[in-house]
Amino acid sequence: MDGEPDLYIAGTWRHASDGGTRDIINPADGSVAAVVDEATPGDAREAVAAARASFDDGAWRATPIAERAALLDRIADLLQRDKEELATLETRDTGKTLAESRIDIDDVTSVFRYYAKLVGADGDCRVVDVGDPAVISRVIREPIGVCVLIAPWNYPLLQMSWKIAPALGAGCTMVAKPSEVTPLSTIAFVHLLEEAFQEFAVPAGVVNLVQGSGAVLGEALTASADVDFISFTGGLATGQTISKTAADNVTKVAVELGGKNPHIVFADVRGTGDGGGWDAAGDRGLTGVFLRSGQVCSAGTRLIVEESIADEFVAAVAARAAKITMGDGMNPASETGPLVSEQHRAKVEAYVELGISEGATLITGGARPTDPALAKGSFYLPTIFDRCDRSMRIVQEETFGPILTVERFTTEAEAIALGNDTEYGLAAGVRTSDMARGERVVRALRHGTVWLNDFGYYTASAEWGGFGKSGNGRELGPTGLAEYQEMKHIWHNTAPTAAGWFKN
Ligand code: NAD
Repeated sequence: MDGEPDLYIAGTWRHASDGGTRDIINPADGSVAAVVDEATPGDAREAVAAARASFDDGAWRATPIAERAALLDRIADLLQRDKEELATLETRDTGKTLAESRIDIDDVTSVFRYYAKLVGADGDCRVVDVGDPAVISRVIREPIGVCVLIAPWNYPLLQMSWKIAPALGAGCTMVAKPSEVTPLSTIAFVHLLEEAFQEFAVPAGVVNLVQGSGAVLGEALTASADVDFISFTGGLATGQTISKTAADNVTKVAVELGGKNPHIVFADVRGTGDGGGWDAAGDRGLTGVFLRSGQVCSAGTRLIVEESIADEFVAAVAARAAKITMGDGMNPASETGPLVSEQHRAKVEAYVELGISEGATLITGGARPTDPALAKGSFYLPTIFDRCDRSMRIVQEETFGPILTVERFTTEAEAIALGNDTEYGLAAGVRTSDMARGERVVRALRHGTVWLNDFGYYTASAEWGGFGKSGNGRELGPTGLAEYQEMKHIWHNTAPTAAGWFKN
């Protein structure tokens, strides 16, 4: 950053081989937050070769599990030590508020703590009875090998941590590539890793870092026969490209993609029962979509509300949406920040135009804020479209911005059908004070995470991932570690005999 080398390959920091750099823009005011090195495809190939050499050398995967677990714990300690620095970089880079960035760094820390425990507790071995007492049959887990880890811009370090923590814990080597829009926290984090690696004498080449355009570096990272596993988080189209490219080498791929997440509200939220009542439902409906200006893969962008309360409920949410305080994420008064870039705002604006042309009723937002203090940033007002239906592209496609669409239903079956009527399947929410109904509906919804009378939460110990075109594979939880492991069956005959099948 800012003249220091930013590519980390085979244990050495270096500049891009062609001297290329990229300006990283602070979306709150359009200023240059930092200048970073931009890798070439040749640099990316070197990073893959370094990870391959380090894995094949065998020293890292032979490291005792307890030591790998202790390393993860140490990384968690350093994350807390450097929390303010990392959170500030995240805010300057993404525009999210400092309060959110601090939560992100705490969440990253929890991920490392969780995998430290899980790796340490993992017996790594299952004994199988094959019916012959002379045979010792075991199924063991081994690291999958060289991993390419590609992250998006909305939760730069958090998404990367869901990959790096289990990959390290499993004994893999890796090449990390953050989004070219938001590389700053990952660069700082790899410096932190280097410090921990020195304490634990981790061999060179276990973690390598390149940053730059995915379109330019993609092939070097995903079409290489030296790569054993690609873990990707990002958009649907990129996930499809990577999956197709990786197929030539039959490289395993896990993709965490977009979402178009329904938030179903039943009329009985008026009650005082388990549903938490009217205010909680409205509050979660608001926060579920406008937190982080909608730039959340699991944002509740489709409000599906029972007809009998729809007018009043939507009016209440819209009234609060219009009062959200936007501003620079470094200002403690800001409740939400800008969109990540001018280009992304242009995409969101095009979706608003589309919604209007499709006949949806714009009831709030639909414009840039007029406050002169926000003029240089890529801000956009919280926007709500009522009277939407499934034929509209704004209801089907991920806008990844502060746009809420409202659909109405009259029966439980209709609510479920609407909730499932999406090519995605990442997350969904259900609000009701009738717990029997709540249980029926959450089971009927085809989404990777379903919240009943809550919205937006996750935990490091529970799997995260999508049904349908929201992806395949899972991150977090025990499955998030298993993705980085191969299973090997070892059949050991302690009293060898000839098979005797062939007579001559
Ligand atoms: P994106 O697909 O544009 O980019 C993601 C990453 O892929 C970036 O690092 C980019 O440089 C890289 N990339 C781009 N083209 C590539 C190629 N051909 N080969 C290899 N890498 C390539 O996504 P984005 O705009 O950064 O992120 C937003 C998307 O991420 C949204 O769709 C959002 O829903 C999704 N997301 C999903 C989850 C989840 O858990 N499912 C979490 C966060 C974000």
